[in-house]
Amino acid sequence: MENVALLKCMEYEVDLIEKKLREGFELLGGDEFLKKLIPKNSRVLLKPNMLSVESKDSLVVTHYAVFEAVIRIIMGYSNNISFGDSPGFGDSRKAAEKSGLMEVADKYGVKFEDFKESVHVKLDNSILCKSWNIAKAAYEADVVISLPKLKTHAMAYYTGAVKNQFGCIPGSQKATWHTRMPDANNFCKMLLDLNTAVGANFAILDGIIAMEGNGPKSGDPYKMNTLIMGKSLTAVDSVAVRLIGYDNPLDTPVLKEAYDSKWGAVLPRDINIIGEELESMKAKNFKLCRKGGSFYFISPGVTNFLRGMIAPNPTLIKDKCIGCGRCAEICPEKPLVIEMVKKGDILNPKWNMHECIRCFCCQELCPVGAIETKYSTLGKLLKFDKR
Ligand code: SF4
Ligand code: SF4
Repeated sequence: MENVALLKCMEYEVDLIEKKLREGFELLGGDEFLKKLIPKNSRVLLKPNMLSVESKDSLVVTHYAVFEAVIRIIMGYSNNISFGDSPGFGDSRKAAEKSGLMEVADKYGVKFEDFKESVHVKLDNSILCKSWNIAKAAYEADVVISLPKLKTHAMAYYTGAVKNQFGCIPGSQKATWHTRMPDANNFCKMLLDLNTAVGANFAILDGIIAMEGNGPKSGDPYKMNTLIMGKSLTAVDSVAVRLIGYDNPLDTPVLKEAYDSKWGAVLPRDINIIGEELESMKAKNFKLCRKGGSFYFISPGVTNFLRGMIAPNPTLIKDKCIGCGRCAEICPEKPLVIEMVKKGDILNPKWNMHECIRCFCCQELCPVGAIETKYSTLGKLLKFDKR
């Protein structure tokens, strides 16, 4: 049975968040728990979500007030704390500076790691992927504390504690994993193996203001007023997805693969929620990216042709597009899929959907939210679109 602390926190106010997180640690076992989690002289790495270069108070990244509150607590157990991430697009230092995380880190003497140096890791006990290049700082830390943001995600439906470690793969190497794992089932297995390799020891999920709709970068704010924390990343995610509307956690791809592979606690019967009652914290009418029973779950048994007919597609919102070309640049299948074509005064992306692997990196990283996912007419007719 895995313990998960579910906390109510109404504001991004650092003293308040610190108080709530201390209450959470108290529920999990207090000082003894923290001493076990962070043995003496441990090198602790904090891994926030820095998906891209975003300003302070952005919904896309872990909020700097949560980051500061965590540092204040962890400082009582380690004097060797660092933080880092590798954004999907853009420079990690700039991402840390613009989001306010660097300013907080400097205030407390927390070292920044740019995640550019990697180590080669072999994994014998993997589900699928045995060989890895992982950010050295993440791999070599004694304790990794994951600080994800609660958001929707076009491919994985939801991004939280497990998905957050994808940032431990340095820079453009992330794109190659999309090419190697075009199938969502395998991509999620890869994420679990990556977590085995990184070995994150604890997760604190920032869900005070979550992202609904067109996540993980261009969705809308949803005030969830929650922080979720625990040692089991899958258990933290299982609680989070139930809060946003997946009554069955197996309706989300990562947790389905985790359950099938016996990788961590997923089912409600294996998770002990302490603190707030789950029912009282559930979001109402949270706009999901996708609902269970859709494309992902029918993918293994259907032909590529049928998949192409049924699957959701990246779709342009023309009046938002600024013609920057980032989508074409970021696409792991480039140059086969996206071609920039002149439309009036600017260039617009044009997709060759026969070659598209539906990784949704283009949707994820468009700087102005000009790409959304839409089901084909057949997909809608067959009721795969259950948002
Ligand atoms: S869709 Fe987005 S990423 Fe692509 S060119 Fe337009 S604005 Fe840039
Ligand atoms: S077009 Fe978008 S969804 Fe398709 S392969 Fe490229 S990045 Fe992935």
